[in-house]
Amino acid sequence: MPLPPNLRERLQKLHRDTRGGWSDATRGGAPHKPILLLAVMDLIEAGVIRENAIAFDERLLSVFDQYWTACRGDLPTNPLQPFWYLKGDGIWRHVPRPGQKQVLDALTLGGRVPPRRRFQEIVAGARLDPELFEAMKHAAGRAELRRLLFGRYFGDELQAALAARHGLVVESVHCESALRRRLERELADLFAGDGALGQEFTEEGRSMAFRAVVVEAYGHTCAVCGARVRTPSGRSAVQAAHIVPFSVCRNNDPRNGLALCPLHHWAFDQGMLGVTDAYAVKVHAYAEELPADEGFRALKGRGLRLPADGRIHPAPVALEWHRRHVFQGAG
Ligand SMILES: [Zn+2]
Repeated sequence: MPLPPNLRERLQKLHRDTRGGWSDATRGGAPHKPILLLAVMDLIEAGVIRENAIAFDERLLSVFDQYWTACRGDLPTNPLQPFWYLKGDGIWRHVPRPGQKQVLDALTLGGRVPPRRRFQEIVAGARLDPELFEAMKHAAGRAELRRLLFGRYFGDELQAALAARHGLVVESVHCESALRRRLERELADLFAGDGALGQEFTEEGRSMAFRAVVVEAYGHTCAVCGARVRTPSGRSAVQAAHIVPFSVCRNNDPRNGLALCPLHHWAFDQGMLGVTDAYAVKVHAYAEELPADEGFRALKGRGLRLPADGRIHPAPVALEWHRRHVFQGAG
């Protein structure tokens, strides 16, 4: 069923900021709104969003960020802006939390984007125009919408990059589900690689899924120091480390993973940090010789911050391999 003409028109006339020096790559305007709609569509396609209730959550932010990165590299941005302003284009309306309708109405009249926390207190999510949601639920509708958004808001080169990103996003969400299902079984052989997943998904898709599952399980928190740093766009400083490097075992099982901040990820990969089978931090004896490094030495013996779900805790076989081949030092 083709898109109704009035809906097409609204989608073609999204109000965008054109003053920010936007190039032809985004047809001279800010790409935030079309990108947000592409992200919503991907989550519907992947079965993450099933009802017409779009939450402003980590999931949406991470997919938005995928597209944003393809558009504007590493420039920071605030995805709450398009989430807020899309209501003015007749694309969706915000759904207030219980008892917050009047507050939301007053805020809407004020026009400006509220601070993130305030927004989350007042707004439960967004409800798409019902015809648009209907179109997004079907492959043909999504294909037509994507053609429209790509053609109207992006130059040829960027269209190709976004199309590739779309494939990867949907693939990685499916792969995340597959990785989570693996946790229901014992880890058979860490060194046997990703097995059947390798036929089903690309290496990049598996790597994205590994990162998403591990970092989410640890609540975006470094297992060693507890750092939890996020940008307003939802980008997390915390990384997913393979305990046995992927180049060695080719296994993205989340039990071969640890969420670590960039410093502790680096130190873990360099063998300056190890982890005991009881999940306590080991610090290489060399740290004793480092000047002015009490902070690092103080990590010794500290318990890892692990997810509540024990099924995803690091596999002892992985930690043992790391101690033997990477850590090596006493401590
Ligand atoms: Zn850390």
